Amino acid sequence: MRTKIIAGNWKMYKTLSQTETFFNEIIDQLPETQCDVIIAPSFTTLWYAVERCKNTYIEIAAQNMHQQPEGAYTGEVSASMLQNIGVSRVILGHSERREYFHETDEILAQKAQTALAKNFQLIFCVGEKWEDRKNKHHFEVVQTQLEKGLFDCQSSDWKNIIIAYEPVWAIGTGQTASPDQAQEMHQFIRQTIAKKYDSSTAEHTRILYGGSVKPDNARDLFSQSDIDGALVGGASLNPIDFIKIIRAAQ
Ligand code: PEP
Repeated sequence: MRTKIIAGNWKMYKTLSQTETFFNEIIDQLPETQCDVIIAPSFTTLWYAVERCKNTYIEIAAQNMHQQPEGAYTGEVSASMLQNIGVSRVILGHSERREYFHETDEILAQKAQTALAKNFQLIFCVGEKWEDRKNKHHFEVVQTQLEKGLFDCQSSDWKNIIIAYEPVWAIGTGQTASPDQAQEMHQFIRQTIAKKYDSSTAEHTRILYGGSVKPDNARDLFSQSDIDGALVGGASLNPIDFIKIIRAAQ
């Protein structure tokens, strides 16, 4: 039985005061939950978020980290810096990082190795563009992202790896993959992990769906057997919507 995860990716939204308001609104109302709840705020509010969420159900993740342990990398943040403020979860390979910041599969593989060596839990994002799906290359694209990004990992690393399937055409567009489309890809991802590793590793790996998840489509997505929760962008910024999505996962 895989525990569901609802993770919020705040991207470049929310100042410190907006973050305070969000947590003040959500913490008291958060239902007793069977699922894991994660929020990934911006770097400037991470420390505050960690402190604020101590003794709550909410875990805090970073949205990115650098692959090198330290060095002359202006503007970057290392795994040790995150760990030092109590963050041991990180989102890697989000399509916005791949596209706007030119993070290749090779860079992401290095980031994954660095994070795993530090015992981080990864939420590793994969997903095809619309063109890929239109040309029926979506399975191939996702398989390559998995192989190049993660398949150098040891099977023991997989206890700390969560996959987020996020079709690029569904992110921030309001156009969600249908539950069937999402289930088909999640099943494919699980089979791909089973072929490379073994069925137990595949069965234990949590695979989240991301792409315009909202309170009104969450339940149908979560009812699919291979969908183990969601990585939520826009709807995670609103405490009421985010709580509704958590409830849909119960
Ligand atoms: C995301 O950024 O990971 C995401 C899924 O965004 P949205 O929910 O807004 O589509």
